[in-house]
Amino acid sequence: MPLELVEKLEKQGYHLLGRRGAYKACQWQKKALLHDTSCYKQRFYGIQSHRCLQMTPMVDKCTQSCEFCWRVTPSDIGVNWNQIDVEDTDLIPVNELMDAVLMANLRSLGGYNPSAGADVSEKKYKEARDPKHVAISLAGEPTLYPMISDLIDEIHHRGMTSFLVTNGTRPDVLSTMSLPTQLYVTLAAPDETTYKLLCRPGIKNGWESILKSQETLQSLSTRTVNRLTMVANRNMHDVRAYSKLVDLGEPDFIEVKGYMFLGSSRNRLDHGNAPSHREIRAFSENLAALTGYHLLDEQVESRVVLLSRSKQIKKL
Ligand code: SF4
Repeated sequence: MPLELVEKLEKQGYHLLGRRGAYKACQWQKKALLHDTSCYKQRFYGIQSHRCLQMTPMVDKCTQSCEFCWRVTPSDIGVNWNQIDVEDTDLIPVNELMDAVLMANLRSLGGYNPSAGADVSEKKYKEARDPKHVAISLAGEPTLYPMISDLIDEIHHRGMTSFLVTNGTRPDVLSTMSLPTQLYVTLAAPDETTYKLLCRPGIKNGWESILKSQETLQSLSTRTVNRLTMVANRNMHDVRAYSKLVDLGEPDFIEVKGYMFLGSSRNRLDHGNAPSHREIRAFSENLAALTGYHLLDEQVESRVVLLSRSKQIKKL
């Protein structure tokens, strides 16, 4: 990784693990400890925010350079690096990676110890030190990680559940990998033209690969989600085309989520690209009508609406 990137990531609060992995404390974990509030994943699926970790095995690698990404991309810091190929020498064993993730979590909880005066319940603090869920989603494309199956197996072996978010450009990996507890495929465009402009793929046939991932999604035996990342004035059009993409994948859930003006995306977009919750809600209602999914829940603070194929959600 270029030194400039390492410096930038550390400034943004990432704990770098091994040569390519990273952990970053989730703001919702802190809010859950201090104010007893929770992230939409707790509300929708039962994932306790104070016991949830977010990490990535590939912080600097991705097949796309989405304008809305929090991730630092080469144009943000004026330095080039290979964003796609992964060398074997880049990797540490998955058990070491997970040990490092758990250590990073303990380090970041240091300031929340009630014995040292923090206004946090003893019970919650102890629970946060013993996490039960890993979100493989922080930044980068996790299916580029050659040991992704081993990582998921390791997480489950340690008694934790897992969410994995992919951009869908690696359908061959999706169809063969160990499956996470809940698998997300992002849909950030209704058509190829929008896709190329907004997601700026660094590979050939990115759009075709996403369509193939959607076809694969319906055959996978795990909970599946399409995450629609909505960017105002960029991809919030043609709800009918989105509904056809959803039909292809038949996911259990659809999360319609507004882009947030955060991280390195602030170099590429502006506040006006972050839709209001009212816009997200209106788009979701149209999508629900076209797909037949049930609009079950929403969280205004995260500008997210949940649609579900079934009327009941089994909490994890
Ligand atoms: S696919 Fe995800 S990690 Fe990759 S550039 Fe887009 S938002 Fe960032």
